[in-house]
Amino acid sequence: MEQLVRLVGIARLAAEGNVLDTKRRVQYRTLPTRKWLNRCNSQRVPFHWSLNPYRGCEYGCKYCYARFTHEFMERREADSFETEIYAKDWDAAGFRAELRAVKPGHIIGIGTATDPYQPAERKFARTREALEALQAVAGTSIFITTKSNLVPRDIDLLTRLARANEVGVTITVTTMDRELARLIEPFAPRPDLRMEAAAELARAGVPVGVIANPVLPLITDSEENLECVARAAKAAGAWQFGANVVFLMPSVQRVFFPFLAERFPQHLSRYEANFREGAYLRGSYPGRIRELADTIRKRVGICGRDMEQISPPPIPQAQMILF
Ligand code: SF4
Repeated sequence: MEQLVRLVGIARLAAEGNVLDTKRRVQYRTLPTRKWLNRCNSQRVPFHWSLNPYRGCEYGCKYCYARFTHEFMERREADSFETEIYAKDWDAAGFRAELRAVKPGHIIGIGTATDPYQPAERKFARTREALEALQAVAGTSIFITTKSNLVPRDIDLLTRLARANEVGVTITVTTMDRELARLIEPFAPRPDLRMEAAAELARAGVPVGVIANPVLPLITDSEENLECVARAAKAAGAWQFGANVVFLMPSVQRVFFPFLAERFPQHLSRYEANFREGAYLRGSYPGRIRELADTIRKRVGICGRDMEQISPPPIPQAQMILF
């Protein structure tokens, strides 16, 4: 109780939430929520609105950039992002009222911070509730990003939504190598299962893309690895393939660098040197990866993304690139 008095804002709301369910590694909690839709005014994101039904993600990808969002809630233990999952309280009437601000031509990104089809979705169906309510909009573009093979569950809603809106699903697959995927994305569905989900969506007529984001220097950035993902995407019926380089904010470095020290100690010093000045890699490396992705797309016969998902902000001086 003494702690509740000191906490403010989202941290206080998180502390006041109730336990929904507990399993061996994860506790699910409610999160009182005033707004489900967040207006995006930044030029760096290609959306007008973002929608994230959950805070935290139990897939536990070592490079996950959303880890900092738990710090807003004063949940600072290294693994709390993946073991304390918050399902936002669903309020259908409130959400429909928010939708009045969404205009034709607007782009809504679902899953821009945390995975909307992570295991919590099987239990609490917040994403499905939101898709049901979104049937009220028309003339918008609705794009979902996920690493889950649960998304085909909602093919019925996605195809209904697509009658009046542009709808697309992007599935993230960094590598087709199961062992490597298990290391870097320990609790996410296997890459082949994600590709099967892509194929199911494509067969149902839902436009699906695959992105190999984030490309991890020295770990997933080989031509062989990226081309393998692109070929699997093409075979699944995906129409787009993209690959963008990782960025590592300090909150992520605190998880990713110890992971490197344990699993890829030979790469640790190069990562530390390259990310010493900030979260984003600059210089020739990101361009080389963009060119490589382009070469692979032409070879495989698949389209690219016409928007960069994340682009770095300007910085006063270039950072030295060693990769
Ligand atoms: S699936 Fe996405 S949100 Fe979840 S841990 Fe991995 S990178 Fe983060």
